[in-house]
Amino acid sequence: MEKLGQLYVVATPIGNRADITERALQVLKSVACVLAEDTRHSGSLLRSLGIATPLQSLHEHNEQAQIEPLLARLRTGDDLALISDAGTPLISDPGFRIVQAARAAGVTVVPVPGPSALIAALSVAGLPTDRFVFEGFLSAKSMARRARLQALADEPRTLVFYESSHRIQETLADLAELFGTEREAVIARELTKAFEQVQGGSLAELNAWLAADSNHVRGEFVVLVAGAPAPVETDISAEAGRVLKLLLKEMPVKQAAAMAAEITGARKNALYQFALAWLGTQEKE
Ligand code: SAM
Repeated sequence: MEKLGQLYVVATPIGNRADITERALQVLKSVACVLAEDTRHSGSLLRSLGIATPLQSLHEHNEQAQIEPLLARLRTGDDLALISDAGTPLISDPGFRIVQAARAAGVTVVPVPGPSALIAALSVAGLPTDRFVFEGFLSAKSMARRARLQALADEPRTLVFYESSHRIQETLADLAELFGTEREAVIARELTKAFEQVQGGSLAELNAWLAADSNHVRGEFVVLVAGAPAPVETDISAEAGRVLKLLLKEMPVKQAAAMAAEITGARKNALYQFALAWLGTQEKE
């Protein structure tokens, strides 16, 4: 039986062509064919890298139809490489269907890692990265976009979105409205390119930053938003709340929480958090 070819999934630069890896160059040179989202765009990249491998188009609209012919080719032993217009294929880019089908057919799918705007942005934003949620592109439709953001408003992990210049201002305005103007966020713009900017601040400050200079809304964007702060623990009984409020009139918070815990059996920390939240509301009144 003929040895199966391998499918390489190769990351390419997100702006700065020097970010191509040695291994990506080797693989792109050695495979029988490079599958590219846009053959004109990728043709120019490959030429600039001195690579003459034939290109074949594989994009969102023909990916399904191309699966069988590509599997047939892999069965003849040809190695193929999949690239996208920029960064890592499959990350808000086509390729999922062919990778899924290739794996199901027993083809070895080999990652050739490299740039991705998502990881580049996370690495410089200064927001927690131990856990994060990648949301890709939000809907272009206002209602759907706002509904999605509403559903994410209490997400405690750092949120990462891709955005285009057409919608960056609308999205930042929606974020400020639905997440609150004080939530910290970062706009990473034109990463690895000449006009790279990584701007941090509250959502209110970032909306002002976008409005301040028409250049700030140009190019490609990653928007990162700090996760929602942990909810204040206030799940105490009405009776414990009543006792605590009475004690707070007579003594400092810590002492009141400790005494209310003794009287009511409620947890001291929950009482303490409740007291802080309640005193906060009293100050505002
Ligand atoms: N596969 C790519 C990756 O690995 O990052 C993403 C492709 S997606 C179709 C394109 C989006 O990625 C852009 O609209 C933008 O949100 C983000 N992006 C790509 N290059 C970028 C860059 N140099 N700076 C900031 N964002 C970028």
